[in-house]
Amino acid sequence: MAMTGLDIFKLLPKTNCKECGVPTCMAFAMKLASKSAELSACPYASEEAQEKIGAASRPPMRTVTLGPAERPVVLGGETVMFRHEKTFVHPTAIAVSLPDTLPVEELRSQAAAIASYCLERVGEELRVDLILVDNVSGDPTTFVEAVKAVRSAAACGLVLKSESPRALREAGEQLQGERPLLYCATPVNADALAEVAKLLKAPLVARADTVEELAGLAAELARQGVEDLVLEAPAGNPAALLQQNTLIRKSALKSAFRPLGFPLLNTVTGRDPVELVADASTSICKYASVMVIDSGEPEVLLPLLMLRQNVFTDPQKPIQVEPGVYPIGDAGPDSPVLVTTNFSLTYFIVSSEAENAGVPVHLAVVESEGMSVLTAWAAGKFSAEKIAAFLKSQPAMEGLTTRRVVVPGYVSQISGELEDGLPGWEVLVGPQEASDITPFLRTRLAASAA
Ligand code: SF4
Repeated sequence: MAMTGLDIFKLLPKTNCKECGVPTCMAFAMKLASKSAELSACPYASEEAQEKIGAASRPPMRTVTLGPAERPVVLGGETVMFRHEKTFVHPTAIAVSLPDTLPVEELRSQAAAIASYCLERVGEELRVDLILVDNVSGDPTTFVEAVKAVRSAAACGLVLKSESPRALREAGEQLQGERPLLYCATPVNADALAEVAKLLKAPLVARADTVEELAGLAAELARQGVEDLVLEAPAGNPAALLQQNTLIRKSALKSAFRPLGFPLLNTVTGRDPVELVADASTSICKYASVMVIDSGEPEVLLPLLMLRQNVFTDPQKPIQVEPGVYPIGDAGPDSPVLVTTNFSLTYFIVSSEAENAGVPVHLAVVESEGMSVLTAWAAGKFSAEKIAAFLKSQPAMEGLTTRRVVVPGYVSQISGELEDGLPGWEVLVGPQEASDITPFLRTRLAASAA
């Protein structure tokens, strides 16, 4: 049950020593109650306080990190049922499975293709996160060789799937310094798999046929000292999966039921591509932290990666483009400068219209906290002063001989002030609508240059 600030305060030393970084124990208690501080910041908390407050202030779903240190995959840590309540924090990791029965060269080639698939969308690179190596052969030696082959061809994190504790241990030992996800402990092999997970310091999937069995298994594994768990309860169809995922998420977040407070894994394999995409979409929307599929084909990956990006975009944080000055077309020193904000949507619309026009320009993307033109102007982030200072600060502007800069039509009122801020520059007012950019560049800008 959640503790109030007052409940927590009663358990603190009440010396107001300030070593936790806040002036009083009461202030620290309030921070703990809002989960914006960790009890470890107070060096004087008693054992009783650590036991009671530590449990109450623990996040409802554990965050589990796996994969190589240079390319970690972070799962879980979610705190809300619906994205609009706050945000979802860690996108569903997509894992493509490969059987260890494939010839080694074929494994290498498929792993390389899966890992190198990249979809660029609104400034983000969307990729597959994990490759699952499946010990279909049942032979530990074949499994180890397959894991080595995949590791040599792909830099992403690995999921090791086998019923054999020996195969998992020997394959895991090949991956020194990284944390593969071990798949999976069941009520039958839980003790042996717990030992392997502890030995490799790797996260472990707990799998059971029902939610009740899964909760018991997770509690038992936690009791044995395996803290980083991922849960799986297979369902017969998408409707059952949706119900089950929702029940587990709700139990963790709303009822603070600790045994189910871990990221979820769904396996969506053995379907034709259309069914695969449909079923996997259900998993991404509600509430898989890891989703295993058995196709790395672009027609499957593309819709899933795009859906994932949409679901896991923070609704309170606009997608932003890195501010800077970007050449478009064959832009040279005398090509004019178009100014816009760093809201991704604005950037991509303006840049594609400029590309379509076939008129070389430099696109100056001004830091404006990801706001659109009018919103940024209203918030004082896209003023003449800010634009002038930004352009003067850009190394890419130094080699330009052009003295023409175009501001969006929606902020025509800043053109005079911008001319004052950029002595020697001619400030032109561009169109308000993106669809008018092409005719503007081809006609009015060309006429003004003549
Ligand atoms: Fe109180 Fe502990 Fe903070 Fe000191 S460090 S003010 S005892 S909560």
